[in-house]
Amino acid sequence: SRMASFANEAFTDFTLEENQRAMKAALIKVRGELGGDYPLFIGGEKVMTAERTVSINPGNKDEIIGYVSKASVELVERAMNSALTAFESWKKTPAIERAQYLFDAADLMRLRKHEFSALMVLEAGKNYAEADADTAEAIDFLDFYAREMIRLSETNTIRPLTKLAGETNEITYIPLGVGAIIPPWNFPLAILAGMTSAAIVCGNTVLLKPASPTAVIAHKFVALMEEVGVPAGVINFVPGSGAEVGDYMTSHPKTRFINFTGSKEVGLRINRIASETAKGQIWIKRVVAELGGKDGIVVDETADLDQAASAIVASAFGFQGQKCSAGSRAVVVKSVYEEVLNKVADLTRKLQIGLPEDNYQAGPVIDRNSYDKILEYIEIGKREGRLVVGGEKAEGNGFYIQPTVFADVKSDARIMQEEIFGPVLAIAAAEDWKEAIDMYNDTEFGLTGAFFSRVEDRISYALEEMHCGNLYINRKCTGALVGVHPFGGFNMSGTDSKAGGYDYLLQFTQAKLTSRKN
Ligand code: GLU
Repeated sequence: SRMASFANEAFTDFTLEENQRAMKAALIKVRGELGGDYPLFIGGEKVMTAERTVSINPGNKDEIIGYVSKASVELVERAMNSALTAFESWKKTPAIERAQYLFDAADLMRLRKHEFSALMVLEAGKNYAEADADTAEAIDFLDFYAREMIRLSETNTIRPLTKLAGETNEITYIPLGVGAIIPPWNFPLAILAGMTSAAIVCGNTVLLKPASPTAVIAHKFVALMEEVGVPAGVINFVPGSGAEVGDYMTSHPKTRFINFTGSKEVGLRINRIASETAKGQIWIKRVVAELGGKDGIVVDETADLDQAASAIVASAFGFQGQKCSAGSRAVVVKSVYEEVLNKVADLTRKLQIGLPEDNYQAGPVIDRNSYDKILEYIEIGKREGRLVVGGEKAEGNGFYIQPTVFADVKSDARIMQEEIFGPVLAIAAAEDWKEAIDMYNDTEFGLTGAFFSRVEDRISYALEEMHCGNLYINRKCTGALVGVHPFGGFNMSGTDSKAGGYDYLLQFTQAKLTSRKN
């Protein structure tokens, strides 16, 4: 049955010819549909606006993915009203029915898996495996949160309250109200689907403002949710500028919660605006924020150095380092430092750069802003460390940057402290494994980390002392799986929301206790 234990959607094996062919066929299909015009969804209505965002292929700047309508403040206000109206009936829809929409969406996405992935190859610049993992994770989130909602709705059976003679006591997790959902472009399907579906399955209704660079894949998700019959007004799709639409949604007195994934700067701004009380507002807004990282891999002298080097390269350069989980730092114990550095450099030099649709390992970064910012950090890196690999922009009609490695970087260097969100790795040497762990902890972030060692005592120490939400031993620090590795971090990395974990839905509900005298 549906409630058999959750299993992750399998990744597609692209070493098989037939899977390569299937992805190429999907790319052809999606390419045939490029250049379309996409509306907002407000209540049951699709609204086209004169002002539009143009989404382009970051790997081939002349290719237009689509034109997406842009919400104004007036349109967001209309969307808020439709979300408020829809909330009144949606909150009364039984949990099991709400969950069914998510199961149906997961089934349909599974059928069209390569089509969703192909669109991300073209719009986000992901290679096949990265795009496929994104779609698989979106399916997982839908499937997992649907089950979690059913479990929460059965909480009185699963986790009964302490009995008191003469009373019947029950606890119910009821929804909060209308939420603003502001997801990022780096997992433009998975994180968007997870943030949105978690909120609605709990009975909330939402205003969804996608990231502009990936607004077309966002639209495709919203259209899927409409196709499976999610009632009008439950998901209102309002793309637009962060400064205008984002701030308006955040400061609105009827917004009950904000679910944001993105940069530290924007997250802190949202947190500040949300903490003010607008006229007529009768609650304290809840902010769920998943922010940046300056994640790192620590390697001691007993580690399997080949495994460590490949984990460092995979963590630093997967999707061009554009993950908040990216391992953009490595700290290696002195006695094996040169050896690990050489291995990392060799592996990095082998990464071929090119068009995502041709499935090159290294593709473009997302847009002009990112490109300029990353190249600036590379210049900073040239002053702060020894350039070992890369260090320049790369050929191609897109935002291509060479995977770049800096060695001999000090812990307080900017490239060891600031999130770059690009293909830039800083490596530092430590006297010994304990100092390496101290250097790992020398950050305001705390999202992911990894420790490579063969010594049990050191591993125990690392497990306790490395301060991050997702700590991995002898493996890479990216690629958290729904249900397996609940994801979220400490300190400036956010509110430790643990996406894909048992606690995630609690953030979009409030618990109501009822006590009845018998
Ligand atoms: N969950 C992803 C991972 O473990 C990262 C998510 C993000 O970058 O926002 O790699």
